Amino acid sequence: MTDLAISFDDVAAAARRIAGVAHKTPVLTSSTADALTGASLFFKAENLQRMGAFKFRGGYNSLAQFTPEQSKGGVIAYSSGNHAQAIALSARLLGMRAVIIMPEDAPAIKIAATRGYGAEVVLYDRYTENREEIGNRLAAEQGLTLIPPYDHPHVMAGQGTATLELIEEIGAPDILLVPLGGGGLLSGAAVVARKLAPGCRIVGVEPEAGNDAQRSLAEGRIVHIDTPRTIADGAQTQHLGNFTFPVLKELVDEVVTVSDAELVEAMKFFAGRMKMLVEPTGCLGAAAAFTGRVAVAGRKVGILLSGGNIDLARFAELIA
Ligand SMILES: *Cc1c(COP(=O)(O)O)cnc(C)c1O
Repeated sequence: MTDLAISFDDVAAAARRIAGVAHKTPVLTSSTADALTGASLFFKAENLQRMGAFKFRGGYNSLAQFTPEQSKGGVIAYSSGNHAQAIALSARLLGMRAVIIMPEDAPAIKIAATRGYGAEVVLYDRYTENREEIGNRLAAEQGLTLIPPYDHPHVMAGQGTATLELIEEIGAPDILLVPLGGGGLLSGAAVVARKLAPGCRIVGVEPEAGNDAQRSLAEGRIVHIDTPRTIADGAQTQHLGNFTFPVLKELVDEVVTVSDAELVEAMKFFAGRMKMLVEPTGCLGAAAAFTGRVAVAGRKVGILLSGGNIDLARFAELIA
């Protein structure tokens, strides 16, 4: 366990670093959701986090640890959206330059928000171009420090603070359901849950169209896939990371998948019943409980609602 990229202490240190800057988001319950599933569900509402997703935690935790020289040069990031906004906002708060590489088909609201936070946006084609290559080239040319969306110990530790707050508030859950893309959120969650809730079943939930993590854990190696076509744009990752994979392999019990149609049902539930906008990717964990993909009846279940950034027009189209 000591050879993993992050420890519980790293998450605790991240919690101190982001205190007073990140929101301590509410944990919500719904008697309707409990009746539907026969479980006690606790939703950690990271859709209400600053910039609308948990990614602010990892972004700020990373930039706050830059050396004076790195701060002077600024930060570069590539992202389908929420990491971009997280880095852009964190950079603004810390007075740094930020350059963000985004897919040209990213939700307009995310591109606009990233520019709105004062970042310079560079667009690319996610189906034909390689964002890692573009990022590394610009970083080298312009003296920027690259912060990847998930595969970085400071990012992973920051993301773990959401689960730390959740367990501090509700106590040890029996099951923890976590949206899964590249595994930053899940690795932070797993390190915290293993420490504070040793008996907890830790489950990652990814889109059916892109079950690379499920396959990676089954095969014991990082499986690479083509960019999956799914409405869960925050989880359109092609592979787990060199830092996240070992943490998941060691600490996570299971990875399950849900379909786009099931994500839409969950979005409708949150809007209709709980008066909340949760983006498709943010619904992954909840959909696993609602569909019975993970057996939750009779259990105390922590569920991370990871984000709420979606165009209203797109939201209306999906739930129509
Ligand atoms: C990035 C993101 C995820 C996936 O997080 P990883 O750390 O890449 O696994 C899930 N939900 C939302 C809303 C996101 O923005």
